[in-house]
Amino acid sequence: MLVVGCGPAGAELARLLAQAGLSVWLIDQLADLDQAAFSSAALPLAALERFSLPASVVASRWQGWQLLGPGEALRRWQADHTLGVVLDFGALRRWLAGEAQTWGARLELGCRALEQRPGPGSISTLLRWRSGQQRWIESRWLIDASGQARSLLGEPPATAGALVSGLGVEWLLAVSPAQEQRWRGQLSFLLGSDWLPQGYGWVFPMQPGRLKVGVCRLQDPSRSQPPLGPLLRTILDRCGLAGAQVLDRHGGLIRSTIDRQEPHRRGRLIGLGDAVSTANLLGGEGIRHALLSARVLAPQLLAALAPGIQPKAGLNKLDAYPRLLRRALGWRWGLSGRLAKRTWLGLDSPAADRRLERLLSGLQQEKQAEDLSALLFDYRFERYGFRAIPYLLGLR
Ligand SMILES: Cc1cc2nc3c(=O)[nH]c(=O)nc-3n(C[C@H](O)[C@H](O)[C@H](O)COP(=O)(O)OP(=O)(O)OC[C@H]3O[C@@H](n4cnc5c(N)ncnc54)[C@H](O)[C@@H]3O)c2cc1C
Repeated sequence: MLVVGCGPAGAELARLLAQAGLSVWLIDQLADLDQAAFSSAALPLAALERFSLPASVVASRWQGWQLLGPGEALRRWQADHTLGVVLDFGALRRWLAGEAQTWGARLELGCRALEQRPGPGSISTLLRWRSGQQRWIESRWLIDASGQARSLLGEPPATAGALVSGLGVEWLLAVSPAQEQRWRGQLSFLLGSDWLPQGYGWVFPMQPGRLKVGVCRLQDPSRSQPPLGPLLRTILDRCGLAGAQVLDRHGGLIRSTIDRQEPHRRGRLIGLGDAVSTANLLGGEGIRHALLSARVLAPQLLAALAPGIQPKAGLNKLDAYPRLLRRALGWRWGLSGRLAKRTWLGLDSPAADRRLERLLSGLQQEKQAEDLSALLFDYRFERYGFRAIPYLLGLR
């Protein structure tokens, strides 16, 4: 089994398959899994527990929300207990890869998959190492866990619906205790068209003395899209963080089809995680969905590879994977994707800010910090009132 991509999806699958006794190769183009740690990596506590993630990958804990905007408005919701964590994404990848290795998977870093070629009973993949060496590797199955790049599966067909795409840029800052105080212990989001049209900004606490500040904008090819770097500088200014030392700059795309109708398999090539649109654009998050996709695919693959199983029965197991994954993600996942597109792309004018203002005022009067978590992480829109949400977001 060759798994391409050592992100949350690929590394978790490699672990599960190696644990079941399969021979697994896990490769990533990164030479070091701490490089390009592009993800802000905010997670609800339930996900930490569900995927048994250790304290070593946790950078900080949060127990509340702080929403700035539209304009200078500030709203806070605090719980008296931990609601979630911000992970160190590099540490998460290292830990997941280490777990896979412990169970016998072979990890190959600095190794890029260039193309694949199907054969009768196997599939060949051309790999290139940093040294320039190239080699075709044959495997029974090939997993494309290369994230939104979809390096082997390629772009989804037009029939699967358009890819909705968000571009994110994030800086890791070293800050003074005075600068840090306002942001510690909570997730802060910057909302409204004067902070960032067609998107949102955030300030997340990391280890003591460290903050992550970022922006994500949904891409609209029909409008001019100014570069995000200068917008991020303005945000740093407005947040009192302008003088902070920048330790790392990273970012990337988060892309998903809303209905997730794309093929998940082509012959012996199977897609996993962001490569099959598991990332959700409402809160720009996908780590737990990527891990979940591995948990759904692993038993299907193991069943398909069980000794004595007829090839057709094996393929039937794999054909069930997209349906099982859709079920595991739940119907709320699709609804939140649609809301994300309309909400963020529509957030570009004072009128849109006023609608957002009304929504946030309603939330502030009635809701607790736990309700916000349920809304943004569990997509429990009904807690706000199904009929009110689309109205307030300007869908009606
Ligand atoms: C700016 C930003 C902020 C985000 N914030 C959050 C957040 O707060 N919370 C959250 O849950 N999610 C967040 N996400 C989304 C989350 O990071 C992804 O959904 C998640 O990482 C997807 O996991 P994955 O394993 O499917 O893919 P990835 O994590 O993208 O892993 C894919 C791996 O494949 C490797 N690769 C790609 N092509 C090749 C190739 N040809 N050969 C070899 N290796 C290859 C890459 O180097 C990479 O390591 C954010 C994303 C962005 C861009």
